[in-house]
Amino acid sequence: DSKLLKNYITLPSISADGHIVEIAGNIGNPKDVDAIIANGGDGIGLFRTEFLFMDRVELPTEEEQFDAYKTVLSKMDGKPTVVRTLDIGGDKELPYLKLPAEINPFLGYRAIRLCLDQQNIFRTQLRALLRASMYGNLKIMFPMIATLDEFRRAKAILLEEKQKLLDGGALVNDQIEIGMMVEIPSAAVIADLFAQEADFLSIGTNDLIQYTLAADRMNEKISYLYQPYHPAVLRLIKMVIDAAHNHGKWVGMCGEMAGDEVAIPILLALGLDEFSMSPLSILKTRGQIAKLNKDQLNDHLEHILQLKTSIEVEHYVKKYFLNLK
Ligand code: PEP
Ligand code: MG
Repeated sequence: DSKLLKNYITLPSISADGHIVEIAGNIGNPKDVDAIIANGGDGIGLFRTEFLFMDRVELPTEEEQFDAYKTVLSKMDGKPTVVRTLDIGGDKELPYLKLPAEINPFLGYRAIRLCLDQQNIFRTQLRALLRASMYGNLKIMFPMIATLDEFRRAKAILLEEKQKLLDGGALVNDQIEIGMMVEIPSAAVIADLFAQEADFLSIGTNDLIQYTLAADRMNEKISYLYQPYHPAVLRLIKMVIDAAHNHGKWVGMCGEMAGDEVAIPILLALGLDEFSMSPLSILKTRGQIAKLNKDQLNDHLEHILQLKTSIEVEHYVKKYFLNLK
């Protein structure tokens, strides 16, 4: 089976009826790029930059960050590379920032909230990214966006740093797309408003599911509530994809769900453009999509979206599209 999958390393990501998608990888470290290349990934859909900030005693410098981003972009050789700005907080702590303990860290001071507040950290990262942009096909996205104002402020700061670099005579790629993660229900519900101002949207289902069902993604006791196929989750995903497409924007998914074989037929039918996952899932997904017929899936979509429970959705997809019971 894995031998057969190897054949897909050089093949395009395309459904049986000719619908092209992008199958990209998630990485958390520049070293992981090798796994994406070895598995024939079409790009990087999520570069988690937290690693640069973790397991150390002080903030990384602009130069350290520049080197890491440049390495990744160069190795990707022009393939799309989506870098997410710092998503610290929640379960990912940085002791040297000496942040006060919070009762609800997942609802607290994290990610873009922290970056907009401690702008020195944010601006340093953005400068490093902008300078590295000359070495590849960089797209930048902001995590944990809940309001339009946050996206506008983050984007304005990015454009300000870009202008300063240009004024100082530095070179900055003028094709950088600026997007955001849709991982908070409020953002999914007003995705149509975001799609007018962002170049792309990337759905972060790990957080979107936990916030939609109010079920901590790390808590084993309530893991039964962590339901990727919950009708509410599927409807939110549909809203995001439709909103992006209505405004001519592309939409990806970089949560675990993008590499889930039950979810994949639904996501393909919904028109998801980019599937980003663990590099080890890329070939399996490309093989699965190669056997799916998008037109045929679309005939089932309306029915799937009317199913009432997660279990019903799972059984339906398994029966009709995975040849399982
Ligand atoms: C997500 O929330 O789906 C996501 C991709 O981000 P992280 O898992 O890093 O929170
Ligand atoms: Mg997230």
